[in-house]
Amino acid sequence: MTGLPRYSGHSRCSMDAKKASMSTWKMVRFDNVSVYDTDVNLPIPAKTFASRLLKWYRENRRELPWRKNSDPYRVWVSEIMLQQTQVKTVVPYFEEFLRTYPSIKALADAPENEILSAWSGLGYYKRGRNLHKAARIVCEQHGGEFPRDFSQALQLPGIGPYTAGAILSLAYGEPVPILDGNIGRLFSRYLKIEGALEGSTLAKLRKFLVQLVSEASVAENIRDFNQALMEMGALVCTPRNPQCVSCPLAASCIAYQKGLEKTLPQPRTRRAVQEFHYTVALIARGEKYLLTQNWNDTFLRGFWEFPRIQGPPTSRLAENFKMTHGLHLKVRKRAAPVAHRITFRKLNFHPVLVSLQSPAPQQTFTWTKPGQKGYPVSSYIQKILKSLES
Ligand code: SF4
Repeated sequence: MTGLPRYSGHSRCSMDAKKASMSTWKMVRFDNVSVYDTDVNLPIPAKTFASRLLKWYRENRRELPWRKNSDPYRVWVSEIMLQQTQVKTVVPYFEEFLRTYPSIKALADAPENEILSAWSGLGYYKRGRNLHKAARIVCEQHGGEFPRDFSQALQLPGIGPYTAGAILSLAYGEPVPILDGNIGRLFSRYLKIEGALEGSTLAKLRKFLVQLVSEASVAENIRDFNQALMEMGALVCTPRNPQCVSCPLAASCIAYQKGLEKTLPQPRTRRAVQEFHYTVALIARGEKYLLTQNWNDTFLRGFWEFPRIQGPPTSRLAENFKMTHGLHLKVRKRAAPVAHRITFRKLNFHPVLVSLQSPAPQQTFTWTKPGQKGYPVSSYIQKILKSLES
């Protein structure tokens, strides 16, 4: 584990990219370490800290659809959707998704194409794919119930320490800590933790949280306690302008007392952006386009897309489309490139408007309106179509 995921706005970033880190958590959690044998300490008794936080949460919590009850499936779907996506974007998708797939079994029984279509617009499709795979495993190996055991939960695709902790604590009331970008930021200020939240600094904070949730006043209120931390990070201890004046923890917050609330946490090392270029062929028939399903590239695998080849357009592009896709094309016009960012990847799509000189191979192509149910497309497809209108 190298650090906390980057966080923006009210979205909840996952701590799940690298599962290995949880083995450390588990080891600490079950090794009978004495309370606060770490050099990170609360400035006030845990009971006082918990009661201030819980009081604030019970008075200020947002009514969100996944908070209506603590059903593990609802918590699970919401936690996956909230990874790297803002709350206001997730709400309508969550409600629609639950209407379409009201249970783990309904999700497991659905074909993957449908799940990806339902996920369309939320982005980061790997989450939807993993959710679907995990639902099948839960039905086959856990009798259709999300496992209560931490290590079993971690075996499921798409479930890492953060999501496992969130589901076990919020749905089952297990005293398990959670640590995402919001909570990391809050504690780095509250405890005045120097340095970026990565490596040994992050490990220290994680150890501290393991011990904090073992306190009776926290453990017996773990559902609200963990949600209160998330809510505080999203609404009060925000990335740029923390609302310290209205913060229930201000009186004991070390960063606030020292005027450091806007300088902590220190930024993490940024991952370099990788750029990719693709030429995409737009072949229209009314509202329909010729699309093919991507089985060659591991990136966006299984999605329907315009035929594409690597690299920006060259004078040999018709020849390259013939070689790669067996399409006989005549280039009519080049359109302005469209950039699409996915995590650290910047994808540059160069659309070319073309006409077909002979029928497309039927086994690999279909004429469809992008976005039609059963033909999942990435949001970059809509972005390209929109760019043609301007
Ligand atoms: S006082 Fe300010 S910096 Fe400290 S926890 Fe509250 S909002 Fe965050």
